[in-house]
Amino acid sequence: MSGLVLDDLRAFYGPSQALFGVSLSVAPGETVALMGRNGMGKTTTVRAICGMVRATGRRHYAGQDLARLPSHRIAQLGIGLVPEGRRCFRDLTVAENLVAAARRGVWDLDRVTALFPRLGERAGQRAATLSGGEQQMLAIGRALMTNPSLLLLDEATEGLAPLVRAEIWGAIRGLKAQSDLSILVIDKSLRELAGVADRAVILERGQVVADTPFAGLTREETDRYLGV
Ligand code: ATP
Repeated sequence: MSGLVLDDLRAFYGPSQALFGVSLSVAPGETVALMGRNGMGKTTTVRAICGMVRATGRRHYAGQDLARLPSHRIAQLGIGLVPEGRRCFRDLTVAENLVAAARRGVWDLDRVTALFPRLGERAGQRAATLSGGEQQMLAIGRALMTNPSLLLLDEATEGLAPLVRAEIWGAIRGLKAQSDLSILVIDKSLRELAGVADRAVILERGQVVADTPFAGLTREETDRYLGV
């Protein structure tokens, strides 16, 4: 299979294990929601894909073995991460942040600022002066500038005001409509995920407990694994 394939993924922070045999796949063009309560291993899964945490198990992307590659090589294979906490270069301008991430492809400064017009309006401003929502847009813009074929979105709307959240979800739906892009998206909003995700994978204590077409998620599963 040519998309992302994880098989029996285990991940470790020093002596403590966070993932216990996670297997999942994201097919080309597919959008998969990675769900589960706090601390169940969602962020660790994307960190393991990107080579940012010690892990064992098979992880392949587009037929390439990710296991022994450093993070920058994994990014070069077309995996773009929008990390939790929207990290950007605070002292660079918006435009500098975007250009620094650029790799050749359909996404460039013009296309990113068309997706998020506020980034165009604030192109010359230091990233540190942006609002939280704008910084999140910048983090997504930076990932897009790398021209990924797989986008990993880790809590892209966490802690943002409703209007900004709506704007970012609108952009994510637009990205999904770009049919060749695969997306693995982590978020707490079932309603928003339902608008983009083809499939749902639920993690519970570092293991997959559900892997289903999104529309097939049952009330019992959402209550049991996502309820508070
Ligand atoms: P959240 O929504 O809170 O980010 P999550 O599902 O993304 O939750 P992870 O952040 O992947 O969960 O955490 C999985 C497990 O790994 C948790 O038990 C967490 O305490 C542990 N963990 C995460 N980061 C570290 C770290 N840097 N050092 C040690 N343990 C960690």
